[in-house]
Order: sequence, then structure tokens, then C-alpha cells
Amino acid sequence: MRIPLVAGNWKMHGNRASNRALLDAILAGIAGLEGVECAVCVPFPYLGEVAGRLADTKLAWGAQNLSEHAQGAHTGEVSAAMLKEFGCRYVIVGHSERRQLYGETDAAAAAKFAAVLGQGMTPILCLGETLHEREAGRTEEVVGRQLEAVLLLNRNFGNAVVAYEPVWAIGTGRTATPEQAQEVHAFLRKRLAPGTRLLYGGSVKKDNAAALFAMRDIDGGLIGGASLVAADFIGIVQAAARAAQQKD
Ligand code: PEP
Repeated sequence: MRIPLVAGNWKMHGNRASNRALLDAILAGIAGLEGVECAVCVPFPYLGEVAGRLADTKLAWGAQNLSEHAQGAHTGEVSAAMLKEFGCRYVIVGHSERRQLYGETDAAAAAKFAAVLGQGMTPILCLGETLHEREAGRTEEVVGRQLEAVLLLNRNFGNAVVAYEPVWAIGTGRTATPEQAQEVHAFLRKRLAPGTRLLYGGSVKKDNAAALFAMRDIDGGLIGGASLVAADFIGIVQAAARAAQQKD
């Protein structure tokens, strides 16, 4: 039985005051929930403060990126050891915005994945095809290639989490249908250990979360926009907890 995970990706949003209000509301909303794990992945400058606020709570936290290098002359970069030093648990790796806007390659994502595991943290590896690739019938080829690059470099996949995030569904309001998402998850599942958690990401909202999470191979979600609104994020976490009970 895989415990579902709902992870928020705040991207480049927030400020100290809005972060505090958001975390307080989320903590209150998830207080009584069992059978689900949740986390927020926040911008670097806020990690220390968020770590302090979330100590001894059931909300974990993570980063959105890191350097594949251990240390050295890499101006502007943040290493895995730096994140680990103050208790980081999750790191998003290979998000489509990193791949598309910052030229991150499959090989770089694989090296970052290794850096996260090397410090005993949990990578959330993002895979996904563009609309063009989907329409050309290349979805499995693309996500298979992205996953293979990581598996090649990382024989030990550890407790890593994989997030299938079709690029055409991220921040667009256009969600994959539960069946479309399940089809890709089933494809990925065959290549992973049975206990690996497979999240879906791409315009998950509190109104469509239940149908997605009901799918056999969907173990929660990576949530962008809706993770910035406490009631929406809480609704999604509740949907994941209910789905897990029904799958039991
Ligand atoms: C994401 O950023 O990983 C994401 C899934 O964003 P959104 O939920 O806004 O589509």
C-alpha cells in the first residue's frame, strides 16, 4: 500500500507574510487528516523560515531545484548538502519549467536526482510530454526517455517520487483526464519498483482531484497554482486521503 503524497510547488510566489498565513491555514486544515502525507516546496530564501514554522508538524517541506555539483565556483547555485543541513526532505527535479525555460537536459536532471539521493533526501522527479509530442503519439517515448536517463545514472532509485506532469496541463487549466493520466502512470509503473509513489501534476484542483486520485496508479499530486490557496490545497489533500481509504 503506497501512502499518497500531495506536494505543493509554490514556484516563484509568496512573501514572508503571505507564507505565514498560508502555512497556518494549511496546518489547521490538515490537522485531523490521516493516511496522507503532504509537503510544500518553497523558494530558496524562505526555506529556513518555513523549516522553523513546520518543525514538529505533519507538513513536510522541500526545495524546487538544486545544483548537481557538490560545491565550488557555481555562482547562484545551491547544493544538496546546503539543503540537507537544515532539514530539507524533498527536492523537485526536472520540472518542465526548468527543462523548457532554463535548458535543463535529461542528463542534468539525472545528476540532480543523484545529488538529492546522495544526501538522503527524496527527489520528486518530474516527467512529461508537450502537446506537440502528445499529438504526435510520442508520449510514452518521451516520458520513457526522461525516466531512462535517470535510471541509467541511478541504479538505486531509493525512496524517490515520480510526478507525471504533461506540459500542456501545467498552469493552463487543462487537466489530463483521469484515464489519460492513468494510462501514462501504468506505463511508468512497469518500469519502477511497486512501492514507488507516482504523482500526477497539471492543473489539479479541489474539484477534479478525487477523480484523478481514484485511479489505481495515481498516488497523489504535485500541485502548482492550487497550492497557493489554503482551502484549495486542503481540499486536494482531503481528496487524496479519501481516495486512499477507498483503495484500501
Ligand atoms: C506544477 O507546477 O508542477 C503544476 C502542476 O502546476 P499547476 O498545478 O498550476 O498546473
